Amino acid sequence: MLGMNTFLAGSYPQAGPPPSDPVPHQQQDVSAMFSDPIAEIERIMAEAGLVQQNIPTVGAPLADIERFMSGAGLVQQDTEVWDPLGTVMVLAREVAFLARDSVLALSPYLAQRVNEERAKVLLPGWMPVIRLEEPAADVRHFLRALKRLHDNLPLESTPSFDSIWACATLGQKYERPDLRDRMLAHLKAYCTDNYDTFHANGRQRLPPGLEFPHAIGLLSLARLTNAHTLLPIIIMSCTMIEDADIFVNGWRRDDDIKIRLKGKDLAVCVAAERRMVVRAIDNAGMVYMVEVAQACRSRGSCEDALQWLNAWHARMVGRSPRWHDPLKLVWAPTVAAKAFSGPWKHFRLCNHCSGMLERRQDGILRRTWKDLPCILTVRVPGWPGDCPVHCFDEMPDAPGASGTVRCRLENAVHASVM
Ligand SMILES: [Zn+2]
Ligand SMILES: [Zn+2]
Repeated sequence: MLGMNTFLAGSYPQAGPPPSDPVPHQQQDVSAMFSDPIAEIERIMAEAGLVQQNIPTVGAPLADIERFMSGAGLVQQDTEVWDPLGTVMVLAREVAFLARDSVLALSPYLAQRVNEERAKVLLPGWMPVIRLEEPAADVRHFLRALKRLHDNLPLESTPSFDSIWACATLGQKYERPDLRDRMLAHLKAYCTDNYDTFHANGRQRLPPGLEFPHAIGLLSLARLTNAHTLLPIIIMSCTMIEDADIFVNGWRRDDDIKIRLKGKDLAVCVAAERRMVVRAIDNAGMVYMVEVAQACRSRGSCEDALQWLNAWHARMVGRSPRWHDPLKLVWAPTVAAKAFSGPWKHFRLCNHCSGMLERRQDGILRRTWKDLPCILTVRVPGWPGDCPVHCFDEMPDAPGASGTVRCRLENAVHASVM
């Protein structure tokens, strides 16, 4: 097996017609080295302990290569990224992809790997094989995106988590930062740093098609790419994973790769949730403060209604799965309909007081938004807040400053902020 893997990692018989790509194809004259190239292949395979079967002749049709590969039983031909006019074989774990030079050349990293392998190709008409260490599913997503760029086709408008992850991480590693940045921009449209955008999105925290458990992977991605402003919404989304087992132990992708929070980030999320609870309760208390609007003409009944809203909210928090969310709207028409129904339908808030609650809530939520890095205790350079500890890059210690700066929400926060 090992022998075959080594063999595959070097080169492979070229399929069908010669490549049409303009990339220079470095070939060596093997006639001086081997009097009979096919005999030499057979000798290499025999040494590797492999059964000799269906060894394609140089320039064999693609069908022969496919039969040869499946006969060897070592690699699985990808059903999607397999270009019949491909000139390079890409191996990721046990999956083989066939692609053109012109597609792979869109990634400087892959282009270099192809050139290195092509220089090792000994037999005329054989194609280079590059072996990548990334999971095959990630490579498939990345090559698919490269192909779309190559063909001037738009990328998917609503990429899956797997596609976002693959294109962002491999975009970074394979030197296509634009691909990474397009995925991050897609995330930033929802995991935004702008309160108005958040509200305009219907207060939806993750892009369409993504669910809270995906936030576990997104948190790793934000760390990996230094996409700091994604952190607050992603961390809050992690705290909203209802299944404690998934929250602590993670979940498995289709290819069985485990996606889980790193220990440090698990601690960040647990601490964040505690502080979110405190802020959520504070916010509700401030929204429902028993103080009627100046223009109110029914002070008595409006004060009664506000007191009831306070009590009602306290009863409801234990029944809501997201009661720890400090960005939750505690005052909305739907809330009014629920709170002033049944035995409590006699409670009523005048339009002046109702409008006052809306404005009050808006102000409180906007302040909460600015404070998110402080509430979550995470440093987010570039966040539109004013905390010198959490909203800016770490500043070098000034002489005599003893390394301590202050956060409005804490007396003193030391440099241990994550
Ligand atoms: Zn009133
Ligand atoms: Zn702060």
